Amino acid sequence: MQSLQGSILVVDDNAVIRQILKLALEQNHHHVTMATDGQEAIELMEKHYFDLILLDIMMPKMNGFQVLEHIAKVPELAQIPVIVISADGQIDNAIRCIQLGAEDYLVKPPNQTLLRTRVNASLRKKFLHDQEQAHQAEMERMYEAVKDANQAKTEFIAMAAHELRNPLSQIATTNALFSRVGELNPAQTQLLEKVNFSLERMKALIVDLDDISRLETGNMRVALQPLNLVELIYKTADSLQQDVISRSHSLTLNVPSDMPLVCADRERMIQVLTNLMGNALKYTPNGGQITVTAVHQKHAKAVHVTIRDTGLGIQADEQRQIFTKFFRSGDTDVRARPGTGLGLYITKSLVEMQNGRIWFDSKYGQGTQFHFTLQLASEATKTELDSDTAVSG
Ligand code: ADP
Repeated sequence: MQSLQGSILVVDDNAVIRQILKLALEQNHHHVTMATDGQEAIELMEKHYFDLILLDIMMPKMNGFQVLEHIAKVPELAQIPVIVISADGQIDNAIRCIQLGAEDYLVKPPNQTLLRTRVNASLRKKFLHDQEQAHQAEMERMYEAVKDANQAKTEFIAMAAHELRNPLSQIATTNALFSRVGELNPAQTQLLEKVNFSLERMKALIVDLDDISRLETGNMRVALQPLNLVELIYKTADSLQQDVISRSHSLTLNVPSDMPLVCADRERMIQVLTNLMGNALKYTPNGGQITVTAVHQKHAKAVHVTIRDTGLGIQADEQRQIFTKFFRSGDTDVRARPGTGLGLYITKSLVEMQNGRIWFDSKYGQGTQFHFTLQLASEATKTELDSDTAVSG
């Protein structure tokens, strides 16, 4: 077995034993420091770092037991292994030393082979322990660095969202004034429509960034109340009508009018529906079929909503990343459509904050079906309905 080299402190009041140990250890390329009693040993330990201590028991000023008691009290020293060198016939003393924290013992005068084997075994354990400690410290340092970087990123997102809001609303106001300045020709109208479209996209992005920073700082809140989900589905479908027409899609709503009320936040539910229905429209080639279905699940005391499209679908190997922040498929058809990869991450968080569940199934090239459930208002506790709910980041 390969022999290790360490820095070893030999503590013994007997000069002959000290010399024997020094020679034997130096033959094995260890670095040896010597102390003649316990007190000198402790002074040396305070100034130098040792990998191992060979300790006599019976010594003047401070004996081996007292040295071990001192070592046990100082965390940095407690890591250093101690091999006790006891006189022949003092096995009780050796046992007491092991109870006080010594790792092993040798009988005087030590047998060279036994000395080498025990020193090697103790050093091996010590070095492994040191490596583990260093690894642990490195992991902790990396964890702190990642946490700090994440915090800086969250703060940057919040700041960027905040700072972009003002110039954007100024552009929007100026843009709106153009039509009042005088009659616009068709080319000018078309250009303004393009600017408006880009403005809407930027506004949506700012809202998403704002939501991300709220989610990550634990400041996202939902106000739960009894809600008519059917009305919200119709309202959302209405707001997306322009998109449905321009893409020649057909949008079918299978939602019974006698649906019981659910427990949810009105604005956040509109956001969830807009994202899921908007994605279905966006990721379906023109002329597709989008179907929204809502079912009252009596046994689960919940409402189950599905949004089905006949669109691009999601590749099997990408499916587990779909709700991850900033994830967008690598598919060129997906990449050709505008998006940030934030919508589903926010949507999932919002559904879960409203005590719901969200999932999906999809076949690449055939279409996707997103599902979510919401608790019935009649099942929600009074506390849930009365209080704002926040999520921690
Ligand atoms: P965005 O649409 O802005 O990219 P989302 O978080 O809403 O962000 O969606 C993340 C990704 O999930 C999309 O980029 C797309 O790859 C995939 N995806 C979402 N909805 C659908 C859908 N209905 N059909 C196919 N892929 C979808």
